[in-house]
Amino acid sequence: MDIQNELVWSHSRGRAFHGCRRAYWFNYYGSWGGWDAAAPEEARLAYVQKKLTSRAMWTGSIVHMVAEQGLKRAMDDADRGYAIVDWPGDAMRAYAKRTAQADIAGSASGRWLSRPSKLTGFAEHYYALPVTDADWQAALDEIDRQVGSLAENRIYKRLRVAAVRIREVEELRRFWVGDAEVYLAIDAMVGDGTGGVVIIDWKTGDSHDDGEIAAQLGVYGLYATQELGVAEDRVVAMHVNLRHGTETRHVVGPAAIQAARDAVATGVAEMRAALVDVPNNVARKEDFPPLPEGSERCAWCNFRRVCGRE
Ligand code: SF4
Repeated sequence: MDIQNELVWSHSRGRAFHGCRRAYWFNYYGSWGGWDAAAPEEARLAYVQKKLTSRAMWTGSIVHMVAEQGLKRAMDDADRGYAIVDWPGDAMRAYAKRTAQADIAGSASGRWLSRPSKLTGFAEHYYALPVTDADWQAALDEIDRQVGSLAENRIYKRLRVAAVRIREVEELRRFWVGDAEVYLAIDAMVGDGTGGVVIIDWKTGDSHDDGEIAAQLGVYGLYATQELGVAEDRVVAMHVNLRHGTETRHVVGPAAIQAARDAVATGVAEMRAALVDVPNNVARKEDFPPLPEGSERCAWCNFRRVCGRE
């Protein structure tokens, strides 16, 4: 049976739509079906390139993966009524290091290309960028530092102790907002014990845009209120920055939730308006123009090969 390519809004898709339109097309349309060996060459290339990561993105992925494991282990213990088994910081760091080293080796050898949806492939290898062993070591060191910071983080520790109250961790959710479907996955959501929820967002990068953060939190709030029945004034978010060791508390609130509802409606309307066939979600490449030749962004775009801008 053919899988249907559906238009499902997400915060990242909304951002991509307002970046390079051709990159958006490669990501959501041109790469569709590229997992099949019989697919056209362009779709296969776009599919592989869509999966590429970079050291910065991957650092975040590894740290998030360890946080997810740590919380889900505690949730499993709590579900079974067992005492929560400690996962010591040294063991977390060793697990992260093994995973990270395997990722680098699998990408460097090209083995990841046999299963690009499951294995990690770095743009650094795919595009033969001049990255030294010291650069890779620096990325490994940063992962080690951030996983160590996670292990000692007071919120992470409290979540593990209160695992029975965790409502979800990295679950891919799909829900309707009006006539639009929305995807999201929340790092962690925990009940506050009095009917509200606290959303935990692990941050691993250098800088974050306040507007972006507010928009993303609004979508989380929309999910919590609409799908879980939490009151609009009972959604709180904690941003835990593991790179800098800081944490920030935000009250999401009705205004941010309404703004998210509006952003979904407007975003999906814009995306549909760009389609040639809305019911079947068909987009023509020529309706999604590339950036002007020489654009700075093309130098680091994952699709630069299939786009002819390498
Ligand atoms: S290489 Fe440039 S024009 Fe092509 S998809 Fe990427 S950003 Fe857009």
